[in-house]
Amino acid sequence: MSFIVAIDGPAGTGKGTIASLVSKRFGFLNVDTGAMFRCVTLEIIRRKIELHEIEKIEELLSQIEISFKEESDGQRVFLNGEDVSTEIRTKQITDIISEVSKIPQVRGRLLELQRDLAKGQSIVMEGRDIGTVVFPNADVKIYLDASAEERTRRRIRQNEEKGIKMSYEEVLESVIKRDKIDSEREIAPLRKADDAILVDGTNMSIDECADVVYKIIEEKM
Ligand code: C5P
Repeated sequence: MSFIVAIDGPAGTGKGTIASLVSKRFGFLNVDTGAMFRCVTLEIIRRKIELHEIEKIEELLSQIEISFKEESDGQRVFLNGEDVSTEIRTKQITDIISEVSKIPQVRGRLLELQRDLAKGQSIVMEGRDIGTVVFPNADVKIYLDASAEERTRRRIRQNEEKGIKMSYEEVLESVIKRDKIDSEREIAPLRKADDAILVDGTNMSIDECADVVYKIIEEKM
């Protein structure tokens, strides 16, 4: 029987790292839905499409294929067979992604792809609306949160690892702006599902957070 773990929360809480640890520990498929929205955003930029050109966006959505592969140095993301794992993390994409993810057609198509990925296998899926919209019947729902300042410090560390240089103020502003758009949008806004368990990682290390999440999953299994 397949088991579904949904992890939601704002930017920079360590959802990706926790999901990856959960996937390794329990042997579940790991799906980073933010990466899917990033792929769509990358393709919009590459094709020089304006966000109001809905027909062009619909055409693009019918032509993209997104897949994931676990490698020793982490998860790789493929867009129509091309490894775009690094390219989807640039500031250019992060700056407009929350506007792209408001578009109903984009959400609709990715929702289908997300549900398809879970067919017949156990998964851990992380994003903003997994426990509320994508899998309202998930076996375990976690809402991971942390203060904006702590999330900014984490993002800066992640950025440094990827060679991206941004000041504290720049990252803090981007984190706050993205959370605001993500929580205020009409369709599938970022919010904690009523039955999700809140894990506040502000004063916890990633490993401590992961331990809390493991226990919740083990109890449910
Ligand atoms: O998780 P990540 O920071 O890569 O997500 C990038 C953006 O993708 C979010 O700020 C949000 O606008 C969008 N997103 C979403 N729904 C999800 C996952 C991500 O709207 N399930």
